[in-house]
Amino acid sequence: MKQILVIGGLDPGAGAGITADVKTAAAHGVHALTVVTSVTAQDAGGLRAAMPVPPELLLEELRSAVRDVPVAAVKIGMLGDAATVRTVAAFLREHDLGPVVVDPVLRASAGGSLLDGEGRQLLTEELLPLAALVTPNLAEAAALCGFPVDDRAAMEKAGRAIVERFGCGAVVKGGHLPGAPFDLVCVPGQAPHWLPGERRMHREVHGTGCAFSTALACRLAEGLASVAAAQAAKRYLAAAIAGAESATHDPDAPRRLRFFPHS
Ligand code: PLP
Repeated sequence: MKQILVIGGLDPGAGAGITADVKTAAAHGVHALTVVTSVTAQDAGGLRAAMPVPPELLLEELRSAVRDVPVAAVKIGMLGDAATVRTVAAFLREHDLGPVVVDPVLRASAGGSLLDGEGRQLLTEELLPLAALVTPNLAEAAALCGFPVDDRAAMEKAGRAIVERFGCGAVVKGGHLPGAPFDLVCVPGQAPHWLPGERRMHREVHGTGCAFSTALACRLAEGLASVAAAQAAKRYLAAAIAGAESATHDPDAPRRLRFFPHS
């Protein structure tokens, strides 16, 4: 069984964050080693509280997770603050753990910051240069690039800018544009590649970014190249979204992904 390292936050609803990562990896037949960066209290009303794991403990978590374990890829989700970004980046510089996927988690869809200002700056300076792929949605792409990303032309401009500025590949996710959800894969040295999709659900679904980036890491761990891995991750997510269920007493609240086994 392949093993990947997932680094991210705990969501008590278990629809997003590291619990979603574990379920996604399991659905791929992959074992996820888990390092928690932050314990959050959040629900459909937004982020209520978050407590970062102190850097010394985070470093010990990282060391324990990979000690004597062959790791084939890394997925990074919520980081919370600058100290966490710094600790994770320093650790990755010292350990070759395979391709790194960074989901540049900035905000919860229901509201609330998941990475502070200094952390955002450090993410681009220290972490993205270590990444194989970063997976921004439109708002995250705009924050990384410093210009609005609200149509497919701007997605392409953003994908190229990320490759050029940060030296990593990007999957820019277009699911928040109206119409069919197109994603764009930009890899250094290759022409941009569009991945078409079909809209399966018109309601909000919680944890889609987490599940997509972990599915991508699982596929990179198997040895797939970026475009093929992104295609497979998109197929996985389409099924998970199509099966998403209402999970609270409020039928209008964001739905929870279904983590179907995937081959
Ligand atoms: N909470 C944690 C810990 C996360 O890592 C993420 C996304 O990566 C979210 C919440 C956001 O979830 P969503 O915006 O899909 O509701």
